[in-house]
Amino acid sequence: MEKISEKITQLKNELAAYNFTLVAVSKTKPVSLIQEAYDGGQRVFGENKVQEMVEKEAQLPKDIQWHMIGHVQRNKVKYMAPFVSLIHGVDSFKLLKEINKEAQKNNRVIPCLLQVHIAREETKFGFDDAEIKNLLKDPQLADLKNIQIIGLMGMATFTDQQEQIRQEFNGLKALFDELKTFSNPENVTLKELSMGMSGDYQLALECGSTMIRIGSNLFGARDHA
Ligand SMILES: *Cc1c(COP(=O)(O)O)cnc(C)c1O
Repeated sequence: MEKISEKITQLKNELAAYNFTLVAVSKTKPVSLIQEAYDGGQRVFGENKVQEMVEKEAQLPKDIQWHMIGHVQRNKVKYMAPFVSLIHGVDSFKLLKEINKEAQKNNRVIPCLLQVHIAREETKFGFDDAEIKNLLKDPQLADLKNIQIIGLMGMATFTDQQEQIRQEFNGLKALFDELKTFSNPENVTLKELSMGMSGDYQLALECGSTMIRIGSNLFGARDHA
């Protein structure tokens, strides 16, 4: 099998025209594989379960940047608050407040992305456009001094209809650009757009993504999600 570090180099060469952060999604994969990718120079890894991320963090080099890409339950925030470098899936004001509280306890500011529901599929997670606008205009938001909202995250519908995926990504990019024109509080600095996974990263980058989350293309297929 091809080495992970070679796959990462290949991917970066293939996408040299774009400016982006590669989040290597290591969920369900052993620390030995993460270490291998790390030895090849990769520093940003994504996990979707807090418990799993905490266990891996304890065993791996401290300069890894751990991104939480999955749905977050409020009672789990405290476990990752000491080290998490970006939380992609923030989908409520309550969760944002909890992250702020735990960040404050750890004397740090935790960067967050707001998750937007762009897929046609039914899912409980993510804001719609109106909800995000309301959140950014909420006077209470400025009080959360220990979070920094640095952008948006979205997941396209799981389909092979390229046109539909493109529309969904374009929609998210348009919202991102619109929100940037708001007079946002200091703890909102919109610069990252996290969209694109193994099946649709090329399209996502064409549509303006700055952060792609790649799992199976690097680490191989997963047995379970
Ligand atoms: C698992 C996961 C990914 C990576 O998916 P692949 O198709 O394996 O690249 C990206 N984003 C989120 C939110 C995920 O849960």
